[in-house]
Amino acid sequence: KAKESGKNNYQFYAEGMNASAVNFLLLENDLRRAIEQDQLTLFYQPQFDLQTDSLVGMEALVRWQHPERGLVSPAHFIPLAEETGLIVQLSEWVLRRACEQQKTWLKSGRYAGKVAVNLSPRQFRQANFPERVAEILADTGLPATHLELEITESSAMEHASETINMMNVLNQMGISLAIDDFGTGYSSLAYLKRFPIHKLKIDRSFICDVATNQNDAAIAKSIINLAHNMSLNVVAEGVEYDNQAKWLRERGCDQVQGFFYAKPMSAEQIEQHLVHGGFESDNNVVHLELA
Ligand code: C2E
Ligand code: MG
Ligand code: MG
Ligand code: MG
Repeated sequence: KAKESGKNNYQFYAEGMNASAVNFLLLENDLRRAIEQDQLTLFYQPQFDLQTDSLVGMEALVRWQHPERGLVSPAHFIPLAEETGLIVQLSEWVLRRACEQQKTWLKSGRYAGKVAVNLSPRQFRQANFPERVAEILADTGLPATHLELEITESSAMEHASETINMMNVLNQMGISLAIDDFGTGYSSLAYLKRFPIHKLKIDRSFICDVATNQNDAAIAKSIINLAHNMSLNVVAEGVEYDNQAKWLRERGCDQVQGFFYAKPMSAEQIEQHLVHGGFESDNNVVHLELA
């Protein structure tokens, strides 16, 4: 009976309505069980250098393989995990799994880029977070230089001075830091210059119409210039069409991530691409088809 109502309540939540306290507890149990019973899985989305088309990184994106609902998007359960505090446990699992996988790829000699992992604000405010990361790196044997951590602009800015302290420690460990969804938060440039970061990721909302909308183009161009003037790399997210890629390449954007190049995929799928000649030939096929 409880299971049945749990399922209904899940749908209730997924439709974007406010969950009652009871629903919330049921969902929390569902998610707790998901973590314990290995129902979570990581997908990886490749990132490419725009000038050379070479694979430079992959972003790890969590999925919930729900026994009844199939693959559930993180957009549905990350907010719940944040509110219940389960995010800390979930994020540790993600970080460990991503580091293990990256270490395996490094060992095979097939891929030598970085793996990027999303951080939740709550996790980032844990005082012992750098120690937890160091432990995971030591356990998995992954060199820190192959790990990138992403934090959204809005959560970085919300607790800016704590963020700076935390980032300094992580930076000293050799980890790369990226600001995610850049342009959607309320950035203070005074703080931005104090973050020891390596990368800005231009939010997908500005990329969508970048080749056709003057305002989006102006914003994207400004972010590219800002990043370069601060000696940062800049990545465009959500590149879905050839004309967006072309526009970004012509303006000197460093990297791209998006469905035009590759969708997020399972480790097995990534593996197949790495074994069978990489991703570049794939892109050529797409370009030829569009030409
Ligand atoms: P994000 O970090 O900004 O990740 C990019 C999202 O954009 C991913 O959605 C990805 O699938 C999607 N995307 C990539 N390219 C394209 C494109 O060309 N077109 C479109 N329409 N979408 C594209 P996803 O995987 O559903 O993740 C959504 C968000 O959930 C992420 O946004 C991130 O904030 C959060 N998230 C995912 N995994 C984790 C995690 O392990 N921990 C934490 N704390 N948050 C996570
Ligand atoms: Mg991200
Ligand atoms: Mg993003
Ligand atoms: Mg986003």
